[in-house]
Amino acid sequence: MTENKKYLTDASLAKLAKWLRLIGYDTIVFPREAGRNLLNLACAEKRIVLTKRRDMPERQFSGELYFVAGLDIESQFKEVIDKFSLTIEKQKIFRICLKCNAGLSSIAKEDVYDLVPPYVFANCSEYNQCPRCRNVYWPGTHQRNALRFLEKLGINPQ
Ligand SMILES: [Zn+2]
Repeated sequence: MTENKKYLTDASLAKLAKWLRLIGYDTIVFPREAGRNLLNLACAEKRIVLTKRRDMPERQFSGELYFVAGLDIESQFKEVIDKFSLTIEKQKIFRICLKCNAGLSSIAKEDVYDLVPPYVFANCSEYNQCPRCRNVYWPGTHQRNALRFLEKLGINPQ
């Protein structure tokens, strides 16, 4: 199995970065002005650059850079999936923290008692936690909404 490609977006594509994480692709958002520093980081971490900036100082940049044309999240996401032939697999989605891009670990139900709403605790037995920001995830409404969004784009995780 080949390792997944990793991505780096400019700040204007933060929403796209979230969706790439959701389907399991390691993606960071460059928090500052896109430019030479962004490209250096991409090189250092071997990330593919996704940007809306036409004026990137690409000279002497040896990595891969892709200009995202889509104006809304649906077309941007679809565009990147097609361009890089991203595979979307059931066991890879919902495995990365949407907020900070760290891989999630499973956490025992008894350890989330204080961390999730009571109705969730009562109804759900599987939880994951981000080791970095401590955010807790569970198979709930937002996962169903995410799957619906993927379905709308014609994507059915295999
Ligand atoms: Zn996190």
